[in-house]
Amino acid sequence: MVTGMTGDATGSPGEAPGTVAGGPTLPEGRESTEGVERTEIVLVADTVLTPDTVLAPGWVHVAGDRVRATGTGTPASHLPRRTLTGHTILPGLVDVHCHGGGGSSYTDGDSDGAAAAAGVHRAHGTTSTVASLVTAPLDELERAVRALAELVDDGLLAGIHLEGPWLSASHCGAHDPALLRPPRADEVERLLAAGRGTITMVTLAPELAGGLDAIRRVTGHGAVAAVGHTDADYDTTRAAIDAGATVGTHLFNGMPGMHHREPGPAAALLEDERCRVELIADGHHVHGAMLRQAMRLAGQERYLLISDAIAATAAGDGRYRVGGLEVIVRDGQARVPGTGSLAGSTVTLHEALRRVTRATATPLAETASAATRTPAAVLGRTDIGTLAPGCLADLLVLDSSLDIAAVMHRGRWVPAAWGRT
Ligand SMILES: [Zn+2]
Ligand SMILES: [Zn+2]
Repeated sequence: MVTGMTGDATGSPGEAPGTVAGGPTLPEGRESTEGVERTEIVLVADTVLTPDTVLAPGWVHVAGDRVRATGTGTPASHLPRRTLTGHTILPGLVDVHCHGGGGSSYTDGDSDGAAAAAGVHRAHGTTSTVASLVTAPLDELERAVRALAELVDDGLLAGIHLEGPWLSASHCGAHDPALLRPPRADEVERLLAAGRGTITMVTLAPELAGGLDAIRRVTGHGAVAAVGHTDADYDTTRAAIDAGATVGTHLFNGMPGMHHREPGPAAALLEDERCRVELIADGHHVHGAMLRQAMRLAGQERYLLISDAIAATAAGDGRYRVGGLEVIVRDGQARVPGTGSLAGSTVTLHEALRRVTRATATPLAETASAATRTPAAVLGRTDIGTLAPGCLADLLVLDSSLDIAAVMHRGRWVPAAWGRT
């Protein structure tokens, strides 16, 4: 609960608290701009993580859908103000690897379902989501890419991530091994063309025939080439990086482990300053000790958190489909029956952020970068993942337990997020 959130006496007449027409009932004393004209407001909190700097106390001046200014201390402004005592404001979270949520999968290529999944994650603090597609027949992938590209155009999604079909069968995880294939140039071009520039990342196994050429094609289209679901050794991974790969997809998962005589892809990705590495911090995919090692080796600028969330996220245990494979979710763990392979996570990015902050005893000021500024940098975006003048007014308000108190998206409060604990 946001018991410390109180309105100063300077609220404008247009910000009456309570029920918003067509919207939810908000707790007394909280304003909503959802469904009405965006307004100008100054939010004051104990701490503001921009996240380049820590402002304590700090403030964020929101005007329309943008951040107009930030500062420390008391804002010298006559504008409406909300004081968030005991709270921290950080940029809205940016998830570059997410398969769905709320029962919907992006791979289905259903626009309504995709919008619903993005909405579920938005209510949990992820204001920018890239839709990840798992391995499927090429025709299906092309259809899904075309459908989702329109949602990227509309600003509902921040991009599309192709995870497959150019992956290693020996590290396929929850990807249907029967559908995996080497990256033929014409097929790579076909899917990239279907995306019309909305495909932001492609994960592939560089050791497959045509792998290095595919990396050059992907980066040539302005997308990020990522190494993942791979059996590549250290040298092959270095060759992939030299060809233009700049991201390690869910480091440690879906690749050979680190060994002192066979350092493998993880060592190559961690040591190269050109690369950033994704980490799944759901408490199941990577041991806390290895999270700490990866964070130390990569340094604050080069590791990012992803959810790798599947449809089961915020939808409960049960049977789900990940592409063509059935997965069973029990106690929040998604596994492929038979192989027992983990099949994505069921955490939101906010949960991953909270877990990694606690599990590694790392200050939120550092881990927040890994869920905001660093993933935004992967996307080449400077208007999200940070709170600076001119940026989109996407922000997350956390209480002292790191629970979500409120989410703002493009200058409007997200009603479902109010009072979330
Ligand atoms: Zn994966
Ligand atoms: Zn994935």
